[in-house]
Amino acid sequence: MKSARKQLNCPEESIGFVPTMGALHDGHLSLIETAASRNDNVVVSIFINPKQFSAGEDFDKYPRQLESDLKTLSKILKNRIRFVFAPSEAEMYPSKALCHVEPAAFSSIYEGRQRPDFFRGVATVVTKLFNIVRPTEAYFGQKDISQCILLRRMVEDLDLSTKIRVCASVREPDGLAMSSRNAYLSEEERKAASILFRALSNGKTVVEASLRRGGQPVLCEDIKQIIEQTLRTEPLVRSIEYISLAEPSNMAEVTTLADSGGGLVISSAIRLGSVRLIDNVLVGSAETIVDC
Ligand code: AMP
Repeated sequence: MKSARKQLNCPEESIGFVPTMGALHDGHLSLIETAASRNDNVVVSIFINPKQFSAGEDFDKYPRQLESDLKTLSKILKNRIRFVFAPSEAEMYPSKALCHVEPAAFSSIYEGRQRPDFFRGVATVVTKLFNIVRPTEAYFGQKDISQCILLRRMVEDLDLSTKIRVCASVREPDGLAMSSRNAYLSEEERKAASILFRALSNGKTVVEASLRRGGQPVLCEDIKQIIEQTLRTEPLVRSIEYISLAEPSNMAEVTTLADSGGGLVISSAIRLGSVRLIDNVLVGSAETIVDC
């Protein structure tokens, strides 16, 4: 990839980069199309990064379908995707690494507590991919909102020169955010899965109404309860891992709406049967996180 990258006529031509773990769906394709509409060249990577899975997670059963992903990519934007980088594990991690990128503050946010290796794994692999591809811009989905916020901070804190772009979540008609993991859902679970977006949207409606009424002290616990009550109406929801109302700058939890500074990320992770689903909605100034 590093030698292929030398063929690109940079800095005159821009490179839009879309990192993925494959099993491509319309959410991924929308990132690729946006990258193509804004850049001279597009590079897509497909790499299931073992370092961002914790013990007991779904690394072994994560869908692997490189051949059909490559076919999908060859059908869209034929001449615009210059390279698909699909390295092996041995290529990305040839020896036991001594160094990694540790976003310490993110180990204490909800998603970080639930998945202790996740943010370090993401920050490290994205840094490596940026150094290999050296893109002008990189495109990420709002669906993984804490990842987007972390990567924007990482680029700022470590003076990286790639600009992070965040694209809105692409949803199924019933509201379920598209995800490679949706393939694990049984037919019944798939029908039930739209409850997550409905519950978060209920929370957002209440927050927006409270903010419109002029900031009387609304406790985030009350909003979390409204979201939880909606989730509990669906018997297939096996557990609620977390419901979070957080500051958009660093995903720190807020306790009253007055603390939120006019912007809020409302997110949740639930288990539906054995499948873990995450989703989020943005309120007020947090909506500006999405910039493409
Ligand atoms: P993944 O292959 O799951 O690691 O995702 C690769 C990129 O696609 C990440 O930036 C995700 O946030 C993004 N993505 C995944 N699902 C969606 C979706 N439904 N809408 C928009 N972007 C998505």
